[in-house]
Amino acid sequence: MTKMEQFQQMIDESSRIVFFGGAGVSTESGIPDFRSVDGLYHQSFRYPPEEMLSHSFYVRHTAEFFDFYRKKMLCLDAQPNAAHRKLAELEQAGKLSAVVTQNIDGLHQKAGSKRVYELHGSVHRNYCQKCHKEYDAEFILHSEGIPTCTCGGTIKPDVVLYEEGLDQDVINGAVTEIRRADMLIIGGTSLAVYPAAGLIHYFGGSRLVVINRSSTPADQSAALMISDPIGEIFGQVKITKI
Ligand code: ZN
Repeated sequence: MTKMEQFQQMIDESSRIVFFGGAGVSTESGIPDFRSVDGLYHQSFRYPPEEMLSHSFYVRHTAEFFDFYRKKMLCLDAQPNAAHRKLAELEQAGKLSAVVTQNIDGLHQKAGSKRVYELHGSVHRNYCQKCHKEYDAEFILHSEGIPTCTCGGTIKPDVVLYEEGLDQDVINGAVTEIRRADMLIIGGTSLAVYPAAGLIHYFGGSRLVVINRSSTPADQSAALMISDPIGEIFGQVKITKI
């Protein structure tokens, strides 16, 4: 049996699939992974991305943060790829119960997924830090300098910056889904970022699949490992009713 046939068989036998994804899911939609070698490290800013995306940098250099954020983090023209689309179809067919993602681009929702746990927030939600009025990503994109609310407050993207904690409700929801899952597909992530990566340990089933170009800490417990491009793999998945 080929790896693709094994993957298909495991999907056929499952009815509460959870997908846990990272940057690699969106790179095929043209969104750069700032942790990869050809990602944002080869960029023109004065500070490394991880510093510019930290809470203390946001507080101290707010205008510079937004300059970087608009240029590198807001990819509003990106479209869902075959992986996003197939995951949405699997949910619609009653096979997949949730997507847990470390991405902030909203592409799962754009593809039609309903139950998405965004561990690191979303560029599509932005709140005034003073009056909590909500603004969309387009507003941030077209603003200049520090985006400012009508009340005078600064508008902050609802994304989890380095040094900031994850939303406890989102974590709890993701943990519940992973605990209940009968298949966990980990895709497009090297599982390097904690605490997000730690959530996969709540999976107690046997159908653990890792789809990633490089090795991950989950490989040794995986029933199946695939290193082909994730969009290509999901593009071949056929959806059969249980
Ligand atoms: Zn305001």
